[in-house]
Amino acid sequence: MKLLENKIVIVTGASRGIGKSIAEECVNQGATVIFTYLSSKEKAEALEAELSVNGGFAKGYKSDASKFDEAQELVDNVVSEFGTVDVLINNAGITRDTLLMRMSEEQWDEVINTNLKSAFNLTKAVQRPMLKARSGSIVNMSSVVGVKGNAGQANYAASKAGLIGFTKSVAAELGSRNIRCNAIAPGFIETEMTDALDQKVVQEWRNGIPLKRGGSPKDVANATVFLASEMSAYVTGQTIHVCGGMLM
Ligand code: NAP
Repeated sequence: MKLLENKIVIVTGASRGIGKSIAEECVNQGATVIFTYLSSKEKAEALEAELSVNGGFAKGYKSDASKFDEAQELVDNVVSEFGTVDVLINNAGITRDTLLMRMSEEQWDEVINTNLKSAFNLTKAVQRPMLKARSGSIVNMSSVVGVKGNAGQANYAASKAGLIGFTKSVAAELGSRNIRCNAIAPGFIETEMTDALDQKVVQEWRNGIPLKRGGSPKDVANATVFLASEMSAYVTGQTIHVCGGMLM
């Protein structure tokens, strides 16, 4: 039996990067995956096709996670098509890095709305089907930056720290109904974005990590599958750091 057999899983922001790897691993573990994206239509269609083979199933929706009504509409559609939502993975996230001195109100709002308000929007929407089923697992993608802070990322760090507080509160409120809520705090994860950076700088980052490498999207996806599945049945309100020991 696979870890997510017969589970209906929503993953936000899965057209690329970590979210894509999470969608792939969830399908590998037997889940029906509904994923969202904002603008990468072609990548989303390619992922749908890649995953909907050999008995696997994935469906992409263009849905802006920062918009309350779009989140509700997405969950309504999933419930009417698939019956319920067993797992929600709030992965969608953006950066708008700059020093506080230069940060505009728009850069603050964009990051808070996409990274933090989105988790409120989606969690509110899945609460009803999960309460009805008296079961559910919610995973929020935070960051080591949310724990430690980082110069030039006041908006991002605030959103990721906010997700940890949100996670603990939801875990406390919904634990009695067998709905769990946990966070993952990835460290330096190597994606297409980091491929484009100066490789000397990237090597210096790697050298500063106890495991001497950047993480892969799959490293994060594996921890996500654990939290989504019954393997973590007695784990709630926690933040798992997937950072190669970067932050201890
Ligand atoms: P990424 O490659 O930039 O991908 C972001 C994904 O989110 C894309 O699929 C994007 O869709 C989607 N998205 C953006 N805004 C959205 C919105 N408003 N509604 C729905 N989807 C939206 O990011 P990543 O590096 O994989 O990061 C994924 C998560 O991990 C983020 O929350 C990030 O903060 C966190 N994280 C990443 C790292 C790292 O090193 N990469 C470290 C710590 C934490 P489109 O393609 O359509 O734009």
